[in-house]
Amino acid sequence: MVVSGPSGVGKGTVLKHISSFKGVSVSVSATTRKPRELEKDGEDYYFISREEFLENIKKGEMVEYNEYCGNFYGTIKSKLEDLLKKNEIVLLEIDVNGASLVSKKLDCVKIFLLPPNFNELKKRLILRGTETKENVEKRLKQAYIEMKDIYSYDYVVVNDEINNAVEKIKSIAKAESFKVKRRKFEIEEILKSLL
Ligand code: 5GP
Repeated sequence: MVVSGPSGVGKGTVLKHISSFKGVSVSVSATTRKPRELEKDGEDYYFISREEFLENIKKGEMVEYNEYCGNFYGTIKSKLEDLLKKNEIVLLEIDVNGASLVSKKLDCVKIFLLPPNFNELKKRLILRGTETKENVEKRLKQAYIEMKDIYSYDYVVVNDEINNAVEKIKSIAKAESFKVKRRKFEIEEILKSLL
């Protein structure tokens, strides 16, 4: 499951809640951005240098990557493969470009998280206090650009209240798990009893 949405919409918080559920794991991306206060290497991101990131791209070790507001962000192939082997739901919090690339390579469900309105988002970004005034403006501009991709997503969830948003994503995961294409094994087993 891929979750995208404008900076400050609360993707991190929503995913932190969901990651504690059984059968769900969250992919940790690599970035060249500096860690924010309280962010931990290997938990929030793999914080690496620009040189290391470029080297990873050269070696074909990234599933996807993108440059966002001056920093690189991307999904490391080996880390994602390890998670997929566990046969659990894997959540990726990535931007619209990354989401488009991943959906071409993997069977995934794309969810777009929206703020109740953009004034609210601006307030959240400022209150979060992690970005300079200039960066807040850059991120809002980027949000405007990313919104154009919303119609390529499968689901939209408005993050009006954290528990609501988490519940909605849980319902999506549940419904998706009952899709015929994800139940082939079960169907085959039941069909055997017909013969
Ligand atoms: P932030 O700096 O706020 O943590 O993240 C900035 C943007 O980068 C967000 O839109 C986030 O979804 C995106 N992002 C985080 N990890 C990845 C990744 O692995 N790949 C891509 N393409 N974008 C990512």
